[in-house]
Amino acid sequence: MTIYKSPVADQPIPQINAYSFAISNPNNTKDNAPILVDALTKRTITFGQWKRDTRRWASGLESVGFKRGDVCAIFSFNQVDYSVVIFGPIILGGVATTVNSAYTVDELVYQLNDSGASVIVVHPELLVTAREAAKQVNIPENKIFLFGEQVVEGFQPYSATFPPESTPENQLAQVVNLNGQSSSDTTAIICYSSGTTGKSKGVELSHFNILSNCCQLRPFESEIHPHNNDTIAVLPMYHIYGIQLHLIYGVYNGVKTVVLQKFNPVDFLKTIQDYQIMSLNLVPPQILMLVKAPIVEQYDLSSIRFIMSGAAPCSKELSEALLQKFPYVRFRQGYGMSEMSPASHIGFYDNPVHGSIGQVMPNQEVRLVDPTTGKDSAHGESGEIWVRGPNIMKGYRNNIQATLDTIDTEGWLHTGDIAIVDNQYNFFIVDRLKELIKYKGFQVAPAELEALLIAHPLIMDAAVIGVENKEQATEVPLAFVVRAPVEAAKTLTAAQVEAYVASNVAAHKKLRGGVRFVEAVPKSAAGKILRKDLRALVASEAKTS
Ligand code: AMP
Repeated sequence: MTIYKSPVADQPIPQINAYSFAISNPNNTKDNAPILVDALTKRTITFGQWKRDTRRWASGLESVGFKRGDVCAIFSFNQVDYSVVIFGPIILGGVATTVNSAYTVDELVYQLNDSGASVIVVHPELLVTAREAAKQVNIPENKIFLFGEQVVEGFQPYSATFPPESTPENQLAQVVNLNGQSSSDTTAIICYSSGTTGKSKGVELSHFNILSNCCQLRPFESEIHPHNNDTIAVLPMYHIYGIQLHLIYGVYNGVKTVVLQKFNPVDFLKTIQDYQIMSLNLVPPQILMLVKAPIVEQYDLSSIRFIMSGAAPCSKELSEALLQKFPYVRFRQGYGMSEMSPASHIGFYDNPVHGSIGQVMPNQEVRLVDPTTGKDSAHGESGEIWVRGPNIMKGYRNNIQATLDTIDTEGWLHTGDIAIVDNQYNFFIVDRLKELIKYKGFQVAPAELEALLIAHPLIMDAAVIGVENKEQATEVPLAFVVRAPVEAAKTLTAAQVEAYVASNVAAHKKLRGGVRFVEAVPKSAAGKILRKDLRALVASEAKTS
């Protein structure tokens, strides 16, 4: 067995409530220091206020009957107080499940049901969707609360549940003691991921999982990145990359985080300029924008010092072009998945290796395993990344089989990503074994789109794969569709199929790669779609065209 370890020493990781960890703040951030700022309204939350408001929200939750183990769903765009809302349930030993703000009613119903949520905190613009979904899963309307200060159609802001400002601290909700094993046993966050196969599943991350990943990341920063550079939050806060970096690690380090509700180039660039942002955590299409979009020239971005890319592949060419354009910036890539809280690999800012996802983070063991033989790959040969460590999820919610398929009996998580490692122990992703498609860092599960396509009366069978779109530095989903053997199906068009999908799913799952009609979907004897054959077909056509 060949086990790869980190160049950085293992770190001590406390086994405590994630809230106690967040406020332990090793940088001694002052209580009056602003740690969260709304880029547009300038609403600011100081560290002291954050500590208090999270406890007040925990008290509010208790007042509506929320208790240890209960689940609170958060359905919103990025908000300056998103982390306050996440930590209320966490304080009580309850769970926060974060929902993609683009979800349709059906998608939300699925997550509410699967996670067992009993309370929802929703952005007012998404209230109509939340209300309808809540009705379908029997969450009463008095358990739906809003972001913001306004009462909307009788729905109260979550802060309306807070005890009065004057309430002494010892009368606020107590932080549930999770010392020792209960830090590993108690779920803090459930985010949704399709993992290596099938539909979206609830990834149960314990208190210990999420605070481990903070401890594993910290020494990797090295002294050139002093842990408290002002940053901008454009990563979605419902995704583990945003949750971990901006809502947990950011608070723990007392970083000033300027929050943008949604990513758009103008607000993004203007915020960097106005707030003199030093550190950016991005996905590859945003890096492409910095390199290529003419609008970038209109802004002074000279404050930027560090840029990290994650959630999807960032090519060597792209990061090289970035540093050519911004020579004063240091760059690195990180790699991981929701199931790893999320990171297992990261690069050094002071020694970028373009195209590499970096090196193994501490407290973990990593193997590269040949998927056909099940044996460890020889050095220099590619293999599936397997990871074992304190940041590996507890498992998928209510899904023992999917958990066993992903984490083996020895505790190795099989990532479904294929990598090679060089002589300096830099890892490079070279392929993906699993079905997952990543559109601009957002997950698209082929199984979900296939189920939807097959439900169409004029479609008999379907398969979805990801194809590369170089201009946008992303993959896009392409559907292969078999018409049903009925007269009406003969005139079914690609545009109709695309519109059907678009009207049923969140925008990032649209069939941007198009629709192709085929006679049959290639399948193995066991009935599994042979996606490799479809990918090979597309690749061979690209070569000949
Ligand atoms: P998610 O759970 O949404 O974070 O998705 C995890 C998947 O995103 C991984 O298993 C990879 O397939 C992909 N991914 C994440 N980071 C990178 C990266 N730096 N390079 C290539 N693929 C990545």
